[in-house]
Amino acid sequence: MTDIGAPLDIKVPVVWVLGGPGSGKGTQCAKIVEKYGYVHISSGDLLRDEVAKATPLGQQLSAIMTKGELVPLETVLQLLKNAIKEKADSAKGFLIDGYPRTVEQGEKFTSLVCSVKAIVFFDLSDDLMAARLLERGKSSGRADDNEETIRKRLQTFRNESMPVVEKYASMVVTIPATDPVDVVFGKVVAFMDKL
Ligand code: ADP
Ligand code: MG
Repeated sequence: MTDIGAPLDIKVPVVWVLGGPGSGKGTQCAKIVEKYGYVHISSGDLLRDEVAKATPLGQQLSAIMTKGELVPLETVLQLLKNAIKEKADSAKGFLIDGYPRTVEQGEKFTSLVCSVKAIVFFDLSDDLMAARLLERGKSSGRADDNEETIRKRLQTFRNESMPVVEKYASMVVTIPATDPVDVVFGKVVAFMDKL
């Protein structure tokens, strides 16, 4: 992987959207995009797009993602940076969904991609996340929405991603994600309106 270069100087707010698999990140991000004109950048979607292109990189990624593991750091960073750069002039802000998944990823993002204005964390129990993912799996076509991979993803989230929430605690706004979509979004709006 080539050197990804100096961080971007982004004039609009960049927000990390954290939460376990199935906590509602994608659902809430779509609503934020609609109301606030932010650009939603999902690391999972960027990776799945790459898989769909069936390039050698895509095939490598596919094998890792089917096991419920995390893909190499530089690959995701480069995809994220390209996606942000592309919309830097038109976006009202950026939602970075599904990244960082580890403390190291967080540090690399701020040193190589751009700085972060705020962090939102959707808090949901493992049982509810699993139930929502199994439901989503009936129609999502996602290879990782099956019982075995879900268990592994939840474990990976608790072990590797929760430390990110703890490390950046002073910047994190925690939103309970148990309630129906619109109730959760009410809390998101209160957060967004203060940005
Ligand atoms: P993530 O992007 O965090 O993995 P999604 O937004 O894809 O989560 O949501 C996972 C599943 O849960 C989807 O099927 C979605 O429709 C459902 N879902 C999301 N938010 C809620 C909610 N507040 N109440 C009930 N179901 C929800
Ligand atoms: Mg998602």
